[in-house]
Amino acid sequence: MKKIKAAVMHGINDVRVEDVDFPQIKAGEVLIKMKSVGVCGSDVHYYKHGKIGSYVVNKPMILGHEAAGEIVEVAADVKNFKPGDRVAVEPGYTCRKCVYCKTGRYNLCPDVTFMATPPIDGAYVEYVAWPADFVFRLPDNMTYDHGALMEPLAVGMHAVRRSRLKSGEPIIILGAGTIGLVTLLAAKAAGAGEIIVADLEDVRLNMAQKLGATKIINASKENTLEVVKDLTQGLGMEVVFETAGSVPTTQQTIALAARGGRIVWVGLAGQDTFPMPVLAAIDKEVDIMGIFRYANVYPYAIQLVSTGRINIDPLVTHRYGLNQVTEALNVAYERRDGAVKVIVDIEG
Ligand SMILES: [Zn+2]
Ligand SMILES: [Zn+2]
Repeated sequence: MKKIKAAVMHGINDVRVEDVDFPQIKAGEVLIKMKSVGVCGSDVHYYKHGKIGSYVVNKPMILGHEAAGEIVEVAADVKNFKPGDRVAVEPGYTCRKCVYCKTGRYNLCPDVTFMATPPIDGAYVEYVAWPADFVFRLPDNMTYDHGALMEPLAVGMHAVRRSRLKSGEPIIILGAGTIGLVTLLAAKAAGAGEIIVADLEDVRLNMAQKLGATKIINASKENTLEVVKDLTQGLGMEVVFETAGSVPTTQQTIALAARGGRIVWVGLAGQDTFPMPVLAAIDKEVDIMGIFRYANVYPYAIQLVSTGRINIDPLVTHRYGLNQVTEALNVAYERRDGAVKVIVDIEG
């Protein structure tokens, strides 16, 4: 059987480039030659800790789920793609039959196959067979790196759509990592007014400013709540996005919100349960929304980048070839040299 190269995780801090089987396409699928695949926080987390919550890597698995590539083969029943098409790959496909799939909220489908979530293999590999209905053509003016970035951008867009943001509304984003930054880009494209971004690291805050934040707060030096009160005459923010994924920032979202405001929890705090100021949340009549991946946003994410409404290029800070996946994961983990989005160039 023909073999191809992949970066396979065997255990914590142990990723090896080795031969794996060439994938066979089934009905409804396309075969994609992988080009650009991003390093996500979840890839790094599996690599360093071996698990996320109840998802444990207990047999060899290929990481990577922010993927784009070129179609090289299509199944006989696939009519809307042809070899040579450049595509972004939505990394999770679902049952298409349950109530969530039928009502358009397929991100809630319990029967999901998601790349690089144990035991499903991801995209640090030369070829992937994937259902054609979870693959999206890239316009000529978009690169494979853009295609890979559609995955995190989809998360930011889903968060902004859930928030019911109206044009001109002031927002705050806690955290300026990749997800904070794509939330900023999506909110700006959706017409947010004042956009405040808080983080602990100046390099990330400077990136946020470059991407359109109207005010940045280094929360290690300034009190975020005091700054927000000052800026809003004590009113607070209409929409609060938590993307830092920490307990204190999640707790802080209630105080930062205006009365009647909306709170969107995007980040995952390291603890399952922790105290929250519930009475204040009730008293202020805030809406609190969770975010789990995204649904039906890839085509729109592609349009925002293709039409120039979102410039996502500054996010890519590092590139490595498939043979250097270990280095790519370590750079992302250490956030070395201001690393934001690290791309693995599968052919590089
Ligand atoms: Zn991701
Ligand atoms: Zn379903």
